[in-house]
Amino acid sequence: MSLSLSELEDELVKLGEKKFRAKQIFQWLHQKRVSDFDEMTNISVQLRGLLNQCFCIKSLFIAKRLESCIDNTVKYLYGLSDGNYVETVLMKYNYGYSICVSTQVGCKMGCRFCASAIAGYVRSLEPSEILMQIYETEKNAGIRVSGIVLMGIGEPLDNYDNVVKFFRLISAPEGNNLSLRHVTVSTCGIVPKIYELAKLRLGLTLSVSLHSADNDRRSEIMPVNNTYNINELIRACRYYVDETGRRVTFEYAVIDDVNSSKADADKLADLIRGINCHVNLIPVNKVKERNFKTAREGVEKFAEYLQKRGINATVRRTLGSDIEAACGQLRRDALKNKENGGAED
Ligand code: SAH
Repeated sequence: MSLSLSELEDELVKLGEKKFRAKQIFQWLHQKRVSDFDEMTNISVQLRGLLNQCFCIKSLFIAKRLESCIDNTVKYLYGLSDGNYVETVLMKYNYGYSICVSTQVGCKMGCRFCASAIAGYVRSLEPSEILMQIYETEKNAGIRVSGIVLMGIGEPLDNYDNVVKFFRLISAPEGNNLSLRHVTVSTCGIVPKIYELAKLRLGLTLSVSLHSADNDRRSEIMPVNNTYNINELIRACRYYVDETGRRVTFEYAVIDDVNSSKADADKLADLIRGINCHVNLIPVNKVKERNFKTAREGVEKFAEYLQKRGINATVRRTLGSDIEAACGQLRRDALKNKENGGAED
């Protein structure tokens, strides 16, 4: 599932087969979504035997599935073939379904308010493991998603090569053929990779987790800011907009006593003035181990301050609050459960 069409062609040629077989196999995998070579009925029995010998179609299994009673959001805890877990969230909007996928098992970035940082980093996901979260979820829910956000566990730009490969796979015309205009990649601010991504001009939406416009404050809550500071990050965002013609989104989790004052809003407005952007305000999700909180009124007020300054800002609707749908919460609980010998559920 991680092989591009041309890589699959090379593999088939190596096996002494005709190149065009690759396209047939690619279609079986990405359009008809079969999980077994024996289902590929226009491939000879002999070649299917060979494929079974040389390759396997890796899949994920649903370790847990939680459905919100409030808004139909579904959260999946997927088991990977090496015993690790990642989380995927399916959300229903008026215009269709959107899916939030993970890009790593755990995360190295250590953002103070994020549950993903608590359970620790294990490894990056393969392109196929990112892709299969979508295929398995679509199969389980009996739907097709119209939008994808890379906002689950992990830092996508810390797994840059596999994530870019995933973009190419999900959008391959001979396969799933999804326009990358419907894909959003969220980053805590790995500046050199923002430049690389901009140069590819894939048509993606870039979402930047800003959370503070003050350099020192941002370093306190997001350690990545010690490596790439706010000014470097904003410069990279401007470059992304200029290079791609796409608007960037700034994610801002409003946290009481941390980043929610009028002075914070003014600083933010000054920082992003003139950038073609949108600010997405998020009431911070409660994470058991942390005591960050937001009063709903605080978020609304912050939005008003920004709007008065001419900044395009909206408050993000909270989905799946009854099923711990925010990133990292379910994996963290599964790990704890394992440590306790499965005593808690
Ligand atoms: N590593 C990437 C993508 C994963 S996090 C990134 O940092 O952008 C997806 C979004 O959720 C980010 O904007 C992140 O800052 C935010 N987030 C994490 N924990 C949160 C919490 N407890 N409340 C609100 N937003 C949170």
